[in-house]
Amino acid sequence: MTDTLAPVKPARLIINGQAVDAATGRTFRTLNPATEDVICDVAEAGPEDVDRAVQAARAAFADGPWPRMRPAERQRILWKLGDLVLEHADELARLETLDNGKPIFESRQVDIPMVAGCFHYFSGWATKLTGETIPVNPAYFTYTVREPIGVIGAIIPWNFPMIMVGWKCAPALAAGNCVVLKPAAETPLTAVRIGELGLEAGLPPGVLNVLPGHGTVAGAALVRHPGVDKITFTGSTEVGKTIMRECAETVKKVTLELGGKSPNIVFADADLEAAVRGAATGIFYGKGEVCAAGSRLLVEQSVHDEFVARLSDRAKKLVPADPLDPKTRLGALVNESQMKKVLGYVETGTREGARVVVGGQRQPVNGKGWFVQATVLDGVDNAMRVAQEEIFGPVLAVIPFDGPDDAVRKANDIFYGLAAGVWTKDVKKAHAVARRLQAGTVWVNLYNFYDPGMPFGGFKGSGFGRDLGAESVREYSQLKSVWMSIE
Ligand code: NDP
Repeated sequence: MTDTLAPVKPARLIINGQAVDAATGRTFRTLNPATEDVICDVAEAGPEDVDRAVQAARAAFADGPWPRMRPAERQRILWKLGDLVLEHADELARLETLDNGKPIFESRQVDIPMVAGCFHYFSGWATKLTGETIPVNPAYFTYTVREPIGVIGAIIPWNFPMIMVGWKCAPALAAGNCVVLKPAAETPLTAVRIGELGLEAGLPPGVLNVLPGHGTVAGAALVRHPGVDKITFTGSTEVGKTIMRECAETVKKVTLELGGKSPNIVFADADLEAAVRGAATGIFYGKGEVCAAGSRLLVEQSVHDEFVARLSDRAKKLVPADPLDPKTRLGALVNESQMKKVLGYVETGTREGARVVVGGQRQPVNGKGWFVQATVLDGVDNAMRVAQEEIFGPVLAVIPFDGPDDAVRKANDIFYGLAAGVWTKDVKKAHAVARRLQAGTVWVNLYNFYDPGMPFGGFKGSGFGRDLGAESVREYSQLKSVWMSIE
C-alpha cells in the first residue's frame, strides 16, 4: 500500500503547553486498520496526568490571559489555528487515514475543510457573544453578560477524530474556556497534532491540553474530576449514560451526542437517481461509521424493487481498497472488534429473516485489514434488531412503507432521533414530513451535509445539547444577570 511505511513520530500528551510523557511512562500502540501494522507509540494518560492537565487548565482559566484577553485577540489566535490546519492539511489527512482507515479523499477533501472551517467560523464568535439590557425598572440598570464556564472536558470518538476536535474545541475556546481533550485510544494522532498546532498559533499554556488514553481510565478520571465544569461527549449511548450519571456527582454540565439509526425516506415521486446516490452516500460514506448514517432506508412500496436493484448495482461498484489511494471511496473499519460487530449484525439480520442483496462479507485488501463490503439487507422489518440497533458499519437495512403516514410512523418508531432524510419532488409533502420527523437534523433531497454554522445534535435517545452553530457557543458559556441601582 502507498506510503504507509513513512514513519510517524510517537505522540505525547500535551499538558500546560508542553509535550510530555505520561506520569507512569506508559505508552500504547495505535494501529493502521488497513494493514494491521503498528503506526507508532502513544503516551497513555492516567489519572495523575488528568489531574495535571485539569490543574493546568484551571490555572489558565483563573489566572492566565485567555479568558481575559480582548476577544478580538482570541479570534486572531483561533483563526490562525484554522490557517495552520490548512497549511498542514496533507500531513493531518494522512495521519487521520492511517489511524482511522477512512479514505484519504474524505480526510483531505471533507474533514480538513470542516476542521479549519470550525476554527475560522467560531473565531468570529469570540467578539459576538453578547448579553442584553433588560427593562425591569427605571431605578435599576439590569443587564446580562455571557461568561465562559471554566474547564471543559471533551471526550471524543474514533469515527471523526479530527472533525470532533474542531466541533468541540473551537466553540469552547472561542467562548473563553480552557479545554482538556481526550481523543479515542483508537485514533489519537490528529488530536495531538492539532494540540501542537494550537500552541504554534499562540494558545497560552494550559488552554488546550490533549490526553490520549483509555476511556475507562483517563476518560473516567476526567468525568469525575471536581476541577472540570462541563463534559462534552460524542460516542456510544452506553458510555453517554455512564457519563451522565457520573456528572451528577459533581453537578457538571453535560452535552451528549450519542448514536443514531437514522431513517432515509424515499418517496415514489423522488428523483430516483439522486435518491440512489443519496441513499448510498447516507450509509457508505465514512464506512457507515457515522452517527448520522442513513442506516434505515425507508422506500415507498411502489418503487421498492426498482430502487433496491439500482442501489445494489451502485453498492457492488463500491469496492474496499487502499485508503491512501485518492480514488478509494470505501476504507477499513476502525478495528477488528468493530468489524466483527458489523459482520455479526449481518448474521443477526439473516437469522431474523432479512436477505443480503449485496455484500455481507469481510474483504481484505492485499490480504490484510478490517474491510467490510458495502452491504444491503432487504426485507427488513422495522422491529428487527438490524433496524433498531446502531450497527456502525456499511450495512443498510431496507424497509418498505406505504404512504407518508406509514413512513413517518416507521421513521419515528425508534429509540434514537439524530437525523433523517426525505426524498420527494413534492414541496408540501417534504415540509410536512420534515416537521413530523423526530430528529435533530432533517435533510431534504440531500444527505450527510454539515456546516460549522448549522447546529447538530439529537432528539430522544440521541442525546441533548448541540454541536456547531451559535447554539454550541452558547452551550459553552453561562449567563450572568447584573442588577445595578442607579437612583
Ligand atoms: P465509546 O462511546 O466507548 O467511545 C467514545 C469515547 O468515550 C472514547 O474517547 C472512549 O475512550 C471514551 N470512553 C469510553 N468509556 C468511557 C468512560 N467510562 N468514561 C469516559 N469516557 C469513556 O465508543 P466505542 O469506541 O466503544 O464504540 C462502540 C459503539 O459506539 C460503536 O459501535 C457505535 O455504535 C457507537 N459510537 C457512536 C459514535 C457517535 O458518533 N455517536 C462514535 C463512536 C461510536 P476509548 O476509546 O479510549 O476507550
